[in-house]
Amino acid sequence: MRILFVSSECVPFAKAGGLGDVVGALPKALHALGHDVRVLLPRYGFIPHHEMSQLPAPLGVPLGAGEAWCGVWQSHLPSSEVPVYFLDHQGYFGGAEIYEKGPGAPHDAARFGLLSRGAFQLSRYLGWIPDVMHVHDWPSAWVPLLLNGPESAGEFAQTASVLTIHNMAHQPKFGPEALAQVGIPEHEFRADSIEDFGRVNPFKGGCYHATMVTTVSPRYAYEIRTEDGGAGLHQVMDHRGADLVGILNGIDEDVWDPRTDRYLPAHFSAEDLSGKAVCKQWLQQEMGLDVRPEVPLFGVVSRLSHQKGLDVIIDVIDRLLAMDAQIVMLGSGDPILEATLRSRSAWADGRFAAVVGYNEALAHQIEAGSDFFLMPSRFEPCGLNQLYSQRYGTLPIVRAVGGLDDTVQQYDAATGQGTGFKLWDLSADALVHTVAWALSVMREQPQRFAEMQRRAMLKPCGWDVAAKSYVDVYRWSLDRVR
Ligand code: ADP
Repeated sequence: MRILFVSSECVPFAKAGGLGDVVGALPKALHALGHDVRVLLPRYGFIPHHEMSQLPAPLGVPLGAGEAWCGVWQSHLPSSEVPVYFLDHQGYFGGAEIYEKGPGAPHDAARFGLLSRGAFQLSRYLGWIPDVMHVHDWPSAWVPLLLNGPESAGEFAQTASVLTIHNMAHQPKFGPEALAQVGIPEHEFRADSIEDFGRVNPFKGGCYHATMVTTVSPRYAYEIRTEDGGAGLHQVMDHRGADLVGILNGIDEDVWDPRTDRYLPAHFSAEDLSGKAVCKQWLQQEMGLDVRPEVPLFGVVSRLSHQKGLDVIIDVIDRLLAMDAQIVMLGSGDPILEATLRSRSAWADGRFAAVVGYNEALAHQIEAGSDFFLMPSRFEPCGLNQLYSQRYGTLPIVRAVGGLDDTVQQYDAATGQGTGFKLWDLSADALVHTVAWALSVMREQPQRFAEMQRRAMLKPCGWDVAAKSYVDVYRWSLDRVR
């Protein structure tokens, strides 16, 4: 099958969250199954092109009443042959941001409209018409509308679209002028398509128009059909219920493997955890924490957003530290949460450290050096950090929502089974009690704790299983359009 990923993010070139991890890894797993997979991404200003080749002629992409002329660079996903094409337009993508900041981000309609239209022009240019266009969240959700509208006749008549929902919470809405800009027919401006309370919502339109819709865990596939979880689109998701599939994300084991991780001061495996103790000591030293091997160390790596429940962690920091524990946090995002972390770490006393910013190396080092990972999300489509944690023998303490519920197996005191600890209520008390429970296992039943670590590390978490499920979805989609 020929599959074109159209995406705003792709590791290692551009990443704002889990979407980038998925688009950087799933194509490789599909390629390994024998499919012809390619990726299209904008060339943001921060992506260097000196090691890329350039397609000989520029690409004219229809936009608004005219055409935007774009360069196209070509590279590939690391340690693979999956081609990645970069759509280059200084005016639209030359800046330092993936997503425009500021109220309404009005230029993002044109920016990602350009990417979406570019997908069709590039395919024509290459003489490579995909069987499936796999699009991701709102930025490329224009593609299914284009496929069912202006591109429905001609080369793309047999092409299916699959929209993967990584997070329902991000739904920018644009003024009606966005339709003409991107080339969406005016008659689509209706409630059972792209119109949303008088605004243009590409996410909503994409959900209606995609041949099939997937999301990143079975539990989240259920939750988004409920009023609480659907971020205003639960009726749309319910309407698409027969075409909606939840497929758990895997992790990129080339990048996240404690036996080979290039960011770690020492390596370890389920058979030999001694290197993990070295990582813990190193992390304590590096972060200015007291170097004490026996003290439980809690790690947090997160976007600082309401979704992640970090406000609840911040509320209980003192109660957690009072259990003779240490906490290390890494995150960036919400300015108020950033300021809180900065001021809290300023009077740290060897038990708490916070780093505000985005730091790939430190994220790996925290996953490896911590004993527990805290992730009390309000909602979580899939979540990757709890998967990395388990792979690194760091037991996750999570709220039982979305992918967290699907991927963490609750500790069972009767049998000793489990790979982590779950809470249901998002409250300070629930978090403190769950942490206390986890600490009691670590301190009073070290043998069980070590068994849990090993079990977590050995859990299959690669992309091979998910890739096969995506192939099923592609086949079902093709059955629908052909
Ligand atoms: P989301 O996509 O909602 O942010 P996920 O858990 O699915 O959450 O993915 C988050 C990804 O971003 C993980 O790979 C995580 O390690 C990474 N990440 C988040 N914040 C930071 C940060 N401040 N520094 C480095 N990596 C981060």
